[in-house]
Amino acid sequence: MSVLVYAEHRGEKFRHSVLETVSAGRRAASQLGFDLVCVLALPVLKDEVEILGRYGADRIYAAEGEEYTSYNQEIHAELLRAAAVETGAKVILISATTTGKELAPRLAAKFKAGVASDCTELLMEGGDLFAIRPVYAGKAFQKVAFKSQPAIATLRPKLFTAEEDGRIPEVVKIDISIVPPKARIVDVEQKVGGDVDLTEADIIVSGGRGVKGAEGFEPIKELAEALGGVVGASRVAVDSEWIDHSHQVGQTGKTVNPQLYVACGISGAIQHLAGMRSSKVIVAINKNPDADIFKIASYGVVGDLFQILPVLTEEVKKTRE
Ligand SMILES: Cc1cc2nc3c(=O)[nH]c(=O)nc-3n(C[C@H](O)[C@H](O)[C@H](O)COP(=O)(O)OP(=O)(O)OC[C@H]3O[C@@H](n4cnc5c(N)ncnc54)[C@H](O)[C@@H]3O)c2cc1C
Repeated sequence: MSVLVYAEHRGEKFRHSVLETVSAGRRAASQLGFDLVCVLALPVLKDEVEILGRYGADRIYAAEGEEYTSYNQEIHAELLRAAAVETGAKVILISATTTGKELAPRLAAKFKAGVASDCTELLMEGGDLFAIRPVYAGKAFQKVAFKSQPAIATLRPKLFTAEEDGRIPEVVKIDISIVPPKARIVDVEQKVGGDVDLTEADIIVSGGRGVKGAEGFEPIKELAEALGGVVGASRVAVDSEWIDHSHQVGQTGKTVNPQLYVACGISGAIQHLAGMRSSKVIVAINKNPDADIFKIASYGVVGDLFQILPVLTEEVKKTRE
């Protein structure tokens, strides 16, 4: 019997969240007395395959073929199903990335099973697995039991510790019969300037309506750069076309868990908080002392962001010199 982990990649390095999921899988497998099996589609860099062992995989099921050259959710869901059946998977863990979020329910439908999505914790009690997950836009957390088999969960990035375990995994080739997918990717167009990976960032400086326009993001970018972080935004800033949607944090944007989140000119609406309230340290800069963002902030600065940010950026630069 196994705990199965989907090792998402785009032909290069694994995202850090994959290693976090592998580690979480390792801990669950050890507690249950199962093997930890990772599933991936080749090609992937050779060293990367070994990394999965380093983080706890006993075996790696690798599929190879033309069908896998570009990601297709129908094929990858079928690959996971086949590997789950072959290895007797009792638990399937997938990182809650954009890909993971679309793959997990598709896989669950094949087993007529449920999915515990966006889990923040996995618990083992009396030999049974439970998951903790946010509800009501992160205002509350629920503890869920898995009534259907296999137990399928997606794990929120940056909340599970990636720990080295030092195994040398056995690599097994897996061949599945592929039904031609109903949809196929014809072309992938890379965004100009690249997509920002807010979900893996340790430092995020975000701007909201208070920045007043696209040019108002300049001091935000400068502070983010000085701190070695990336730029986030509220939905108002995105809807106003001051910044691209890939920067949006919140219920209809990205869920982030950085070490430091600096919210500038953001009021703290529940839909924004849903995406960032689990950040380790939250700094809010807002000219309204009653803004809701101060209720969850670790540090608050009441004042005009256009006066505060340049001073803050200079001070950060000095400490980094
Ligand atoms: C279904 C649904 C989904 C949504 N999803 C999201 C989502 O994913 N992400 C998201 O962010 N929102 C989302 N929203 C929108 C959300 O409800 C809020 O409207 C939005 O978050 C407000 O953005 P804001 O804080 O930038 O603007 P506002 O609420 O207008 O706040 C602006 C803040 O800037 C301050 N300010 C103004 N000028 C300055 C200055 N010079 N210096 C300092 N402070 C200043 C003001 O005091 C104020 O607190 C969603 C809404 C719905 C209904």
